[in-house]
Amino acid sequence: MIRTLIPALLLASAAGSAQAAPIEGDGVAWDIVEGLTTEIGPRLAGSEAEARARDWAKAKLEALNFANVAIEPFRTEAWTRGEEEARLLAPYPQPLAITALGRSVPTPAGGLKGELVYFPTLAALRAAAEGSLAGKIAFVDHAMQPTQDGSGYGIYGDVRRAGPAIASRKGAAGVVIRSVGTDFHRNPHTGATSFSDGAKPIPSGAVSNPDADLIARIARRGQPMRIAMTLTGRPNPDAPSGNVIADLPGRDPSLPMILLACHLDSWDLGTGAIDDASGCAIITAAALQASKDGRLLRTVRLLWAGNEEMGSQTSGGNAYANAHAGDRHALAMESDFGADRVWALRLKLADANKALGDRIKAAVWPMGIVPQSGPAHGGADISDTVKAQKLALVDLGQDGTQYFDLHHTPDDTLDKVDPAALQQNVDAWAAVLKVVANEPGTIAPIEGATEE
Ligand SMILES: [Zn+2]
Repeated sequence: MIRTLIPALLLASAAGSAQAAPIEGDGVAWDIVEGLTTEIGPRLAGSEAEARARDWAKAKLEALNFANVAIEPFRTEAWTRGEEEARLLAPYPQPLAITALGRSVPTPAGGLKGELVYFPTLAALRAAAEGSLAGKIAFVDHAMQPTQDGSGYGIYGDVRRAGPAIASRKGAAGVVIRSVGTDFHRNPHTGATSFSDGAKPIPSGAVSNPDADLIARIARRGQPMRIAMTLTGRPNPDAPSGNVIADLPGRDPSLPMILLACHLDSWDLGTGAIDDASGCAIITAAALQASKDGRLLRTVRLLWAGNEEMGSQTSGGNAYANAHAGDRHALAMESDFGADRVWALRLKLADANKALGDRIKAAVWPMGIVPQSGPAHGGADISDTVKAQKLALVDLGQDGTQYFDLHHTPDDTLDKVDPAALQQNVDAWAAVLKVVANEPGTIAPIEGATEE
């Protein structure tokens, strides 16, 4: 008996691992990440794929029995990727792994060639003399390191967000940055830059960390560098996008709602599994899990936002705030930091809601989630609504140690999502929701709060 039983069990488990990841919890969250990455995949803001993702989301939310499921279209500032190629011409000719940044403009016909000027930091680029980069291409290095709370993105992310505009104002014809990422793979990280301060847009790209290391080593040799690059991506300034919203109606519709947000768009190099299919999966599965033992007191509103990634004024978060200025919200939460385990809790509650805060802490403490000092931040998809309605916030902070290995790269794919960690997120969110969405008293607006 034993002889026949053991091989059968081994066979079953081997087949299971080859066919599909194990389903944790009730499988709702995994099902959303798997479905969105398999049936849609990359969904760049403003693209036809993002439109298909909206239809997919609407069908999924209806199938999960949410109420008032709707696609809410808006026009947005987007960007379209093109051809991308770069190589060092001198002193050591070799190819570079490059990707264009959102808002990059195309290189001239035949590509852009010029001297590559090395800056070890963004501060060094800022210190360069006006006009000193005329006709040249700036390279900006940096030293981002992985951190559990992801805080390096605030500081080093500015290399991508602000570096190209600074280089442009010094006269640069183009800019290349070290990817804002913490991996050692030959994957460049894309992401949006900004020329909103009036700087002339220039072709802007990011090379992978190993390629940036190469450029840094050559720079240390003190020899002049020349680069050739072709980036044909271009702005798409008036593109269609849209939000998808859905409600889980509460027992008392007169009470202000709880708003939960994620974003539906993704960068196009990977399939947007951790950024941000996982966020949409977490908030959706958590709303259902929290109401499993009976309807919640307050309505929970899901916002699967369009165009978060461009960091545009015409984002999904902005469109939602405008379209729903008349809806009463009490508290907002956002999931947009991957699928690793929640370990940190931050709150932004009025003094009058101290008891509510204590109950939130007590709900997640048994899961090993610890309160952090400093207020909750929220995120881009809720920030305009939070500002307009002075909403209370709860942040469930995920472990970000590996997030910037994958963020905005071709490696942002389903296999990077750990089903057990994904479900731990759902459990944490559901625990918080059971407290805040069942709060009968006033969840007070945050008056005179200091801006982050
Ligand atoms: Zn994101």
